[in-house]
Amino acid sequence: MVIILEKNASESQIENVIKHLEDYGFQVHKSTGVERTILGAIGVQPNFDTRKVSILDGVSEVYRITTPYKLAGRSFHEEDTIIKINDVEIGGNKVVLIAGPCSIESEEQIFRMAKVVSESGGKILRGGAFKPRTSPYSFQGLGEDGLKMIRAAADKYNLLVITEVMQIDHIELMDQYVDIFQVGARNMQNFSLIKELGKATKPVMLKRGIAATIEELLMSAEYILSSGNKNVFLCERGIRTFEQYTRNTFDLSAIPVVHKKSHLPIIGDPSHATGLRDQVPPMARAAVAAGADGLMIEIHDDPENALSDGPQALLPNTFIKLVEELRLIAHAIGRTL
Ligand code: PEP
Ligand code: MN
Repeated sequence: MVIILEKNASESQIENVIKHLEDYGFQVHKSTGVERTILGAIGVQPNFDTRKVSILDGVSEVYRITTPYKLAGRSFHEEDTIIKINDVEIGGNKVVLIAGPCSIESEEQIFRMAKVVSESGGKILRGGAFKPRTSPYSFQGLGEDGLKMIRAAADKYNLLVITEVMQIDHIELMDQYVDIFQVGARNMQNFSLIKELGKATKPVMLKRGIAATIEELLMSAEYILSSGNKNVFLCERGIRTFEQYTRNTFDLSAIPVVHKKSHLPIIGDPSHATGLRDQVPPMARAAVAAGADGLMIEIHDDPENALSDGPQALLPNTFIKLVEELRLIAHAIGRTL
């Protein structure tokens, strides 16, 4: 941590700041310039609240120079994490494709969608069985029946299953059916849930919260990693801004930022990011170009009658055509899909 003192900071204020830093367990190096004094506070304290120093008399600015996410960050783990599930790798050279409906609606529907995902070359089938809905009157998902349906559909087409887990007491049940636990945007900071998922043996996909910074996303990943589960990947699904023409604002820059700061894979979800079918293909293409390790895309063959998120679902033929384009983009940047 670097502390820049005010120009007119007195010697006793500087001594007071140094004393506080030492009391907090830091080693302090003082350098006195012509105009200002700068203090270097040395010592690894991931949880240190820099405001404790900012408020001291004579302090102008405080900068943290190490990251608070020791396990999710690159400093102590330079190589990219590659998550292996059967023959699927997440975070390797191949861009992984996750697709399926927003919600599992019926056995017929999820089997039809699994066929589309498989024909596109996708590897992972998505579909919600427990749905976090803004309104309590909206469709809440089929629960365990839905889990059975998605497992059977995925098995028929040799796909993996990802679905959202909303509460701790569902983890054990869901563990019997899923290959990857999805933590939704609304639960990114549900610390008791994510800590519990840190004890699970299956990978976790952590979605960025609707108003979460990238650092907060990485800190939530840190919770899962520090509870023991090293198979974590992230998902940029758009954040809330003042923009009204899209459901959220797709923060594409989160992809290269996460790649720089963290060894964890990050995928893009252009469906929830934009909320509108015609915006999904361009943003999916952009996410692959930006280096996303994968994509999650919602599809439906009767979106008008979908029980959730119909307006953002791609029709099967649009999806298949999009995947061909994504393949070309992946090749152009030295990856496969
Ligand atoms: C979903 O993937 O269906 C979902 C609810 O996403 P999010 O948590 O990003 O809103
Ligand atoms: Mn959805």
